[in-house]
Amino acid sequence: MAETHSKNRTMRSVVFDGQPFEVYVRDIPKAKVVRRTDAVVQVTSAAICGSDLHNYHGVFGSDQVPYSIGHEAMGIVKEVGADVASVKIGDRVIIPDFPDDVGLDLEPTINPAIALYGEGHQFGDLGGCQAEFVRVPLADKSLIVLGKEFDGIKDEDLVLLSDIFPTAWAGVTWSGFEAGDTIAIFGAGPLLLEPFRSTSRRANRRRRFWPGNQVASSAP
Ligand SMILES: [Zn+2]
Repeated sequence: MAETHSKNRTMRSVVFDGQPFEVYVRDIPKAKVVRRTDAVVQVTSAAICGSDLHNYHGVFGSDQVPYSIGHEAMGIVKEVGADVASVKIGDRVIIPDFPDDVGLDLEPTINPAIALYGEGHQFGDLGGCQAEFVRVPLADKSLIVLGKEFDGIKDEDLVLLSDIFPTAWAGVTWSGFEAGDTIAIFGAGPLLLEPFRSTSRRANRRRRFWPGNQVASSAP
């Protein structure tokens, strides 16, 4: 196992401790390689997903608190387990919100059907991505390594690839609408605002959107 980052035993992370509408930044045990197939990523950017509101509202996530939240991030690989082959220390990577689910069948302690970063004990205890470091299981399949061609692209233009953008893209694709259709997007939070960008790339025509939200608002 190779390691380059500092020997600090704690890191800062956003945590939910069971009180709805409250989150805190706290010192927690630092992410580390547990299995030979793990990598540890130093987070350079993390996104806030609409799903984080479920934790914030106290309606989803582990009942064992506190737990570290967040499931969308990118960063630099700082540590790799002995059996990690395709990911190297120093690689710039996207951390997709779900680790490789096929590979997780090989991890007896993690139920692949529900494994997700930032949801706590019952969800694989993977830790949250709104933290300084993240342990990534089965790193060869659970990380997207960004090649040199991405060097000139800022984190803020890439980090949404971890969840929000592909989820929104899938929603736009599955909806089946065509150029010229008028669409309504209900719940225009961080996830569903992404169709604005997605659709603008799918069609070179001017679009008008009337996003629906929890709070009534006039269009547009
Ligand atoms: Zn998300």
